[in-house]
Amino acid sequence: MLTQAPRGTRDILPEQVSKWIYVENKFRDICAKYGFEEIRTPLFEHTELFKRGVGETTDIVEKQMYSFDDNGGRNITLKAEGTAPVVRAYVENKLYANPQPLKLYYITPCYRYERPQAGRLREFHQFGVEVFGTNNPLADAEVIGVAVDLFDELGVKNLEVRINSIGCPDCRKEHRKALTEFLTDKLDLLCETCKGRFDRNPMRILDCKNESCQANVINAPRMMEYLCESCASDFDVLQRNLKAMEIDYIIDPDIVRGLDYYTKTAFEIVSKEIGAQGTVCGGGRYDNLVEEIGGPSTPGVGFGLGIERLLLSLENNDVEIEKRDSTDVFIAVLGEEPEKVAIKLLRDLRCIGIKGQMDLLGRSLKSQFKYADKLKAPFTIVIGEDELKENCVVLKDMKNSEQKKIEINNVIQEVKTRL
Ligand code: ATP
Ligand code: MG
Repeated sequence: MLTQAPRGTRDILPEQVSKWIYVENKFRDICAKYGFEEIRTPLFEHTELFKRGVGETTDIVEKQMYSFDDNGGRNITLKAEGTAPVVRAYVENKLYANPQPLKLYYITPCYRYERPQAGRLREFHQFGVEVFGTNNPLADAEVIGVAVDLFDELGVKNLEVRINSIGCPDCRKEHRKALTEFLTDKLDLLCETCKGRFDRNPMRILDCKNESCQANVINAPRMMEYLCESCASDFDVLQRNLKAMEIDYIIDPDIVRGLDYYTKTAFEIVSKEIGAQGTVCGGGRYDNLVEEIGGPSTPGVGFGLGIERLLLSLENNDVEIEKRDSTDVFIAVLGEEPEKVAIKLLRDLRCIGIKGQMDLLGRSLKSQFKYADKLKAPFTIVIGEDELKENCVVLKDMKNSEQKKIEINNVIQEVKTRL
C-alpha cells in the first residue's frame, strides 16, 4: 500500500509532463484569443453545492462523489466537476456586477469514484470554459469553437461534434408527458437505474448506455420535436453560426444533460478512435443554474474537456510532442577552484535564461562527460586548474566534438550565440 498510488489515480512523470504543459499552453492561448480569463477555485466545496449544481439524479451525485465530514463537522466534497464551483464563485464574488458577458476558463483536477479503465480515472483533469450573462447562441458557438480550435491546433482528427437542444422548462413539460406515456408499458424492460429515472428525470433514459434501454427508446419522442419557438429559433441560430465558423457537426437527439437547470444547447465532441470512453468534451447551456445556486437570474454556457482523454486521442493521432531539451550546457570541472568558478558561471548563465547543470556527485571527469551525454546537453564547458590559470575554459560542441579554448569572460556570449 505504501508504495502504491490509490486506485484510479496516476503519477504524471517528468517525461509526460512536457505533453501536459504543451496542451495546457495551447488551451490558454486559445482561451486568450477568445477573450476568456482564468479562474481557480478550491479543490473542495460544500457537498450541497454539487448536489444542487450538478443535480441529485446524476451519476456524479448519486454515486461518484468523494465526500467526508471535516473536523469541524462540515460535509465536504472534492471537486467533482468544474461548473458548479465556478458558478458559486460567480455568485459569491458578485462577478455579475462586472461587464457581461463574463468569459472564464479553468484547468483543474476532478475527483469521481468510478470504476477505473482506459480514459476513466478517479482523479482526472479538465479544461473548461464558462460564459455568463448572455443567452445569445453566438456564445454557444464560441464555446464550441474554443474546443474545436484546441483539437485542430493539436492535430487531432476524426472527431465528431454532436449537438442537440434539450429545450427549456416550458417546452420540456410537454415532452416529458409524451415520453412518460411512451415509456409506461416498457418500464419492466429498463435497467434498474432507468426505472429510478422514470419518475425523477425520464429524459435521462434516452442517453442510457445499457443496450436493452437503448433498444427500447429507439422510437421514443425526442425533445427536438417539442421545442418551443424560442428554443427552436436559438437552435437554428447556433447552427447558422457553426456553419459560418466552418465547424462540421451532426445533430444527435440523444444527447441529454438531463437536469432541470440545463437548457437548450447540449453538445459533445467525440473521438472515434479512443474506444468506449470516446467523449472527450461535453457541454451546454445552463440558463437556470446561477439562480438555482442563489444568484441573480443569469444565463450561462460552457464545456468540460477531459485532459487524459485528449492526450489519448493525441496518441491515437500519432501527434508527437517533443520533449524540450532540459539542459543547454553542462559544466565539467576538476578541483575546488574550478568548482567555485563553475557554480558562479552557472548562475550567470541561468540568469540570462540558459539551462545549465554541473556534477553534484563528485564524479571523475570521464564520468562527468558520460553524464553530460545522457543529459543530451548540446554544449559542455570544461574548467580545469590549468586553463583557469590563463583565465580560460574549454567549450565543447557535443554534436561534432569540436573543442575551443576561450576566455572565461567571453564564454557566456559564445554559448548564447551558438545555442
Ligand atoms: P462519461 O459519459 O464518459 O462518464 P461524463 O458525462 O461523466 O462523461 P462530464 O461530466 O461531462 O463527463 O465531464 C466532461 C469530460 O470530462 C468528459 O467528456 C471526459 O472527457 C472527462 N471525464 C469525465 N469523467 C472522467 C473520468 N472518470 N476519467 C477521465 N476523464 C473523465
Ligand atoms: Mg461520467
